[in-house]
Amino acid sequence: MIKVSNIERFATHDGPGIRTTVFLKGCPLHCPWCANPETWRLEPVLMHDEKKCVRCHSCQTVCPEGAIDFNPAFVLYSKKCTICGRCVEVCIPEALSVNGKDMTAEEIISEISKDDDYYRNSNGGVTLSGGEPLFQYERVLDLLKNLKEKGYHTALETTGMYSSEKLKQAEKYVDLFLFDFKHVDAGKLKEVTGGDFEVITGNLEYLLKTCQEKVIVRTPVIPDFNSDVIKEIINWAAERKAPEINLLPYHSLGKNKWNDLGRTYSYEKYPMMDKSELSEYAVFGESLGIKVRIGG
Ligand code: SF4
Ligand code: SF4
Repeated sequence: MIKVSNIERFATHDGPGIRTTVFLKGCPLHCPWCANPETWRLEPVLMHDEKKCVRCHSCQTVCPEGAIDFNPAFVLYSKKCTICGRCVEVCIPEALSVNGKDMTAEEIISEISKDDDYYRNSNGGVTLSGGEPLFQYERVLDLLKNLKEKGYHTALETTGMYSSEKLKQAEKYVDLFLFDFKHVDAGKLKEVTGGDFEVITGNLEYLLKTCQEKVIVRTPVIPDFNSDVIKEIINWAAERKAPEINLLPYHSLGKNKWNDLGRTYSYEKYPMMDKSELSEYAVFGESLGIKVRIGG
């Protein structure tokens, strides 16, 4: 079984054409600006939307584990919660939901195949995202193989945080890597995201040497993290002959999910970045022979 967070149809930002993006559970990193924090853990997670909650306390009444309390806002004692789903069933305004379900590769492909005509007409396909799609390595490798056998264009949105052996196996079944490269400073990368610079850059360098045409480097531009080293990042990618780098302006669209998970979103104080704030980097990239696109 593959642990899936969400399947999004008609996606247009995760590779060419019209696509279906499959968000998979599990991630080796913990970026504090993450837009999909519900994907971090492999296990399902209970989410509570405070804005929808009418404080009827029905969830607290039915919970067999005593995992819900009010102070007066909703509080979940996640260690007690067994994700039985009873509270979700009684929550009429749908303030509660469980994120995460087990699906077979066949079930995922059956969902994907609903839009075959759209992929054909737009040169689109399927993007595996997360989390880190290769976190569930064996099962996702099998899914990728299956997708290629059926003729789908496959993209992998990836942190690069896994062994080189895994990458070499997966590479055969991936048409496009959307490869996150977040920082040129190993210490800062480790401290803030938990990522290992040697592992990630080793994998990115391998792809840029062996199949550079299949790689788009992606850098989320994050205030007080990497916004002061964007030229160094572009330079690093250009030196290794990356054909294209996408700069993704910081946004706080994941904030509500952090709240729904009962976690604190530490980037609250930063305003959303406008694309125009990054336009100077397109010119800089041109001078180095690398295409810089603002946005994904
Ligand atoms: S059942 Fe839903 S609406 Fe009622 S208190 Fe619980 S979360 Fe809020
Ligand atoms: S999912 Fe089950 S155990 Fe968890 S809070 Fe809801 S009713 Fe309680």
